[in-house]
Amino acid sequence: MFGVVGMGLSGVAARDLLLAMGESPSSIVTFDSRPGKADFSDPKAFLKQNALKTLVVSPGVPLSTPWIRQAFDAGMTLTSELEIACACLEGERLVGVTGSVGKSTTTSLIGAGLQVVDQDAFVGGNLGVPLARYMADVLTHIRPRARWVVLELSSYQLELAQNLSVEVGVLTSLQPNHMERYSSLNEYYRAKWHLMEVASKHVVNIEGADAASYAKRVSLKSKKSNLKRICFVSRKQNTLLTQSDFAGARLMGSHNKDNLAVAAKTLQLAGLWDDSVKTALLDFSGLPHRFQSLGRFQGVHFINDSKATAMGSVLAAWNAFRDDFPQKPLWLLLGGRDKNLPWNELKILKSDKHLQIVFFGECASLAQSQSKLTGLSVRSLKDCVSLLKEKVRSGDTVLLSPGGTSLDEFQNFEDRGLCFERFVKEEFES
Ligand code: ADP
Repeated sequence: MFGVVGMGLSGVAARDLLLAMGESPSSIVTFDSRPGKADFSDPKAFLKQNALKTLVVSPGVPLSTPWIRQAFDAGMTLTSELEIACACLEGERLVGVTGSVGKSTTTSLIGAGLQVVDQDAFVGGNLGVPLARYMADVLTHIRPRARWVVLELSSYQLELAQNLSVEVGVLTSLQPNHMERYSSLNEYYRAKWHLMEVASKHVVNIEGADAASYAKRVSLKSKKSNLKRICFVSRKQNTLLTQSDFAGARLMGSHNKDNLAVAAKTLQLAGLWDDSVKTALLDFSGLPHRFQSLGRFQGVHFINDSKATAMGSVLAAWNAFRDDFPQKPLWLLLGGRDKNLPWNELKILKSDKHLQIVFFGECASLAQSQSKLTGLSVRSLKDCVSLLKEKVRSGDTVLLSPGGTSLDEFQNFEDRGLCFERFVKEEFES
């Protein structure tokens, strides 16, 4: 009997995949700590199912959860939707992307390239659609098998991915993130590195904070000969895209030029690089909530970077703006919920004479005291936008690149980004 733990997107997909593989509904029980979402919300009652042999653990549930550890120690097998889906692959060629930031953008860029050569290519994983959903749809003939699959993989997914194997593994960045779930930085970096261990070819973003130094250090010690030939690329160090290509790209910001260079190299290693693939990359206009322009309201430009929940992303957004507009007045909205983040890394922003900061949300005062930056402070994102209505002038730019997570006020980063857009329209369109 299978026990699916966590009935979010990936848990539901895992159950559907098990059914598509021929398991009977009575051989699957489900657990979710949120009452009403699954067969069980009490782990004790869940584990009492005598025939339970395998737990399919969703990435949102830490493997260190005491009752899951106990079940494992008592002999139960732990697996994941990803492992089950990987066991059903039949000739699909895989590219995997991981990193602290830049995963979704880079995965989508690679996906845009893959879809030029394979209209059935699957783009998903941690981004959007789980691999188990793809596989369930293939097995039930809802969709054809893809020739190419590109997966965004979180560190949590990589903790339970023993049978994953990819042609090209991509590491976009390594920097402190999710430190609420890992006991050390090294443990977090090691979880991400697992992808490189199971890849035949490797691409690492040189500008991805600790990624390049970590990759060099670990690969030096590795016995795997292919890990001695990692491709290190960035906007400055790449042979596939020229300055004029970058200038014509629709994605804004220098960090996205790094993402473009990484995606281009990956597609070349996959044997797919040509002019039409290059055009698809340069035409890619970006994902919502990642340095997304919301347009101008009463002459003020608003940028939604709600997805920025790591210090590297906040600095990337600030750099991206300053590269193009060194002297323009900029309002940066920082805050949300802390996850043990190194806010002091933002102290470099002190040197920006044209920057004003508004701290908001649950971690407003913590972010302000740890970053040692001066700024205004308000309770919520809505209050932030109301305050801006009084403060901003035509020609200013407002950048929501909060650093903290959305969970103090919102369901997720998408919800926060959409609410931000609504607050802006409510205040500035009237
Ligand atoms: P992830 O899926 O790893 O969270 P995203 O592509 O969704 O990455 O981007 C998350 C945040 O990081 C956004 O704010 C985005 O603007 C920023 N970002 C994207 N690429 C990079 C990069 N190469 N370096 C730093 N920040 C980046």
